[in-house]
Amino acid sequence: MEITTIDAPDHERVVEFKDAASGLSGFVAIHSTQLGPAAGGVRMRTYGHPSEALDDALRLSRGMTYKNAAADLPLGGGKAVIIGDPNADKTPRLLQAFGRVVQSLGGRYWTAEDMGMTPADMAQIGTETEYVAGLPDGPFASGDPSPVTARGIFNAIRITARHRFGSGDLSGKTVSVQGLGHVGEHLCALLHDAGAKLVITDIDAGQTARLGDRFAAQAVAPDAIYAAEADIFAPCAIGGILNETSIPLLKVSAVAGGANNQLATDADAQRLHDRGILYAPDFVANGGGIVNVATEILKIRDREAWVGQRLEALERTMDRILTRAKVDGVSPHAVAESIVEEKLHPQAA
Ligand code: NAD
Repeated sequence: MEITTIDAPDHERVVEFKDAASGLSGFVAIHSTQLGPAAGGVRMRTYGHPSEALDDALRLSRGMTYKNAAADLPLGGGKAVIIGDPNADKTPRLLQAFGRVVQSLGGRYWTAEDMGMTPADMAQIGTETEYVAGLPDGPFASGDPSPVTARGIFNAIRITARHRFGSGDLSGKTVSVQGLGHVGEHLCALLHDAGAKLVITDIDAGQTARLGDRFAAQAVAPDAIYAAEADIFAPCAIGGILNETSIPLLKVSAVAGGANNQLATDADAQRLHDRGILYAPDFVANGGGIVNVATEILKIRDREAWVGQRLEALERTMDRILTRAKVDGVSPHAVAESIVEEKLHPQAA
């Protein structure tokens, strides 16, 4: 196994790993351990070039620093990428080799599931390292984070509604939901129970039809979700969907959803702001997932109570962000970034 440190500006430590025996290759990026050990999932996917995998690890690890700090967790930001097709290249040997990479970092980086990974894979990785979460079983195993992620997003939607419409009561409000996967389906159930009307879409037409029936929702084609008539748009699929093309189409008054990296660029936060659309920053709205994973890393015994307290803290943070954005006349994204910067560099604030 070759583990080589790479020089990356703005990151505490980045390593490239290559193991000829198992075919493992990829990167671990530790953006910051200032608030605690770096935590963030491992993603396995094919990349056109290794430099794209490195870019992904760098960008995602920085995002984890912001998400963990916003959720008030004693955790820093890190992320790992394994280069390869999870359906063809993932073997127990490769996962164990990755476990040795994680172990070699001595606890500065904790791994968990991301794209292309399952709880069973975490168990394989766990044969070689103690610094792995998202295990399928065990005393502190945290399982599927998406129900808790959805609860956090639901809270963010209520707070956003209160700021935008004067009440967090969602009955009679229409929410458009893009992406009906693990998070989107749980979110639809919470919104439906709260009396909201739903407009839904997914590239999986069968799932859209199924949830359309279950929640008496209006089903629309994937491209039609941006121009759908609704009060709040909840992106819960892929990143980059708030951009110069989609933002002019929006008919909503607010955007609050769970997808990571919803803004294509920082300029899109300003674009939403200029259109008078209130945007709930994604890395605050979707922090419930890492809160759930953190119970395993931090070995929390009273999981339910602890998660509840952390979700409430996230709600207060979102409230503060939206209040400050209004007072200062700036985009909530800019405020969210500056709140995290203040936590990371308190003496500079
Ligand atoms: P998922 O893969 O279970 O679901 C995503 C859904 O989006 C799928 O049903 C897919 O068909 C659909 N989709 C993909 N592209 C689409 C498009 N262009 N238009 C409409 N639908 C599309 O993933 P998930 O776990 O539900 O996560 C959803 C988002 O939330 C992701 O961005 C993820 O990074 C983020 N997130 C998830 C968690 C979690 O706990 N799972 C935590 C934090 C953030």
